[in-house]
Amino acid sequence: MAKFDSPIYVTRPDFPPLEDFNEYLKKIWENKILTNNGPFHQELEHALTEYLGVKYISLFSNGTLALITALQTLRITGEVITTPFSFVATSHSLWWNGIKPVFVDIENDSFNLDPQRIEAAITPKTTAIMPVHVYGNPCNLDAIRKISETYGLKVIYDAAHAFGVKKRDDSVLNMGDLSILSFHATKVFNTVEGGAIVCHDEKTKMQIDHLKNFGFTDELTVVAPGINAKMNEIQSAYGLLLLKNIDSAIEKRSLVAQKYRGLLKDVKGIRCLYDIKGIRHNYSYFPILVDQNHYPMTRDDLYGLLKKNNIFGRRYFFPLISNFPTYNGLDSSRPENLPVATMVAKQVLCLPIYPALDLSDVEKICDIIIRQV
Ligand SMILES: *Cc1c(COP(=O)(O)O)cnc(C)c1O
Repeated sequence: MAKFDSPIYVTRPDFPPLEDFNEYLKKIWENKILTNNGPFHQELEHALTEYLGVKYISLFSNGTLALITALQTLRITGEVITTPFSFVATSHSLWWNGIKPVFVDIENDSFNLDPQRIEAAITPKTTAIMPVHVYGNPCNLDAIRKISETYGLKVIYDAAHAFGVKKRDDSVLNMGDLSILSFHATKVFNTVEGGAIVCHDEKTKMQIDHLKNFGFTDELTVVAPGINAKMNEIQSAYGLLLLKNIDSAIEKRSLVAQKYRGLLKDVKGIRCLYDIKGIRHNYSYFPILVDQNHYPMTRDDLYGLLKKNNIFGRRYFFPLISNFPTYNGLDSSRPENLPVATMVAKQVLCLPIYPALDLSDVEKICDIIIRQV
């Protein structure tokens, strides 16, 4: 039947051609520079500002350190309003800065932070908002900007899913005070491990560059308690090679997403997240919601059934961040405060999507889902 002989995972990392990577490694061996803003690092920063359509970018060894450093850059303290429907690193970055996360519920259609509920969560201690462009779908940018202006709050977007995403031809990374990216192996664009902060002016870019290198501004001067979060030359070279083919990789992802949508659109109890018009998407994930009142089994049963067939979906994001022991004692973590996020976390299942996934395999996966009805 449809069972796969070898496992199909939710994602499969992109690799650059080995011969090309060998060439770049040779250059690194010749340059004798391994890290600390080397030539590949500089070239990748430049290439990414061009590709993404942003002014300044600072590369990091991973996205979590980029988040932590972004909060340090803006000297954020007190309370920050954020979403429970994300990867734990979003809230962990607050925790590592001694900041209290205040969870606000998400929208039922985009699964992003619901701007209508933000104001009620603002207290005298609130200093910033940290929204996430979940699955690469842009947040309600205008509404969040208005709130931040009214209350004098900073906005740091966790844009780990939003590589290359544009709204009306402008990068979503140009919104807010800072945006962070993740280049982890599982993301649309990867440098094995890696990340970045996007900012809008040269002074901030310099501050970020100092903070990711212990606070050094020159050989003898340390201006701040920085950290070591630098991207190295091997990671940068890897990224440069993948960037050459990123558009075709995203195009292949879009074909996979279209195939899923076409096949699943009329299945009772299965809801696909649809593309918002006017957005250049990156198809980083393909989430479905399984409504057990209309579909013959629960999300967890479908997850298990697919697994038996060698298909490994992921329940992103379940459990909610607010349910982990670090956070579940917070007042804002109560499920009554987060009804939409609680429902979505119970129903969501991300299906396999990556450039090398065959459309015939998508058909086989959908066949299993459809056959249960
Ligand atoms: C992947 C991810 C991160 C963390 O990035 P790393 O590079 O793995 O440290 C942060 N936030 C979100 C939403 C992510 O998906």
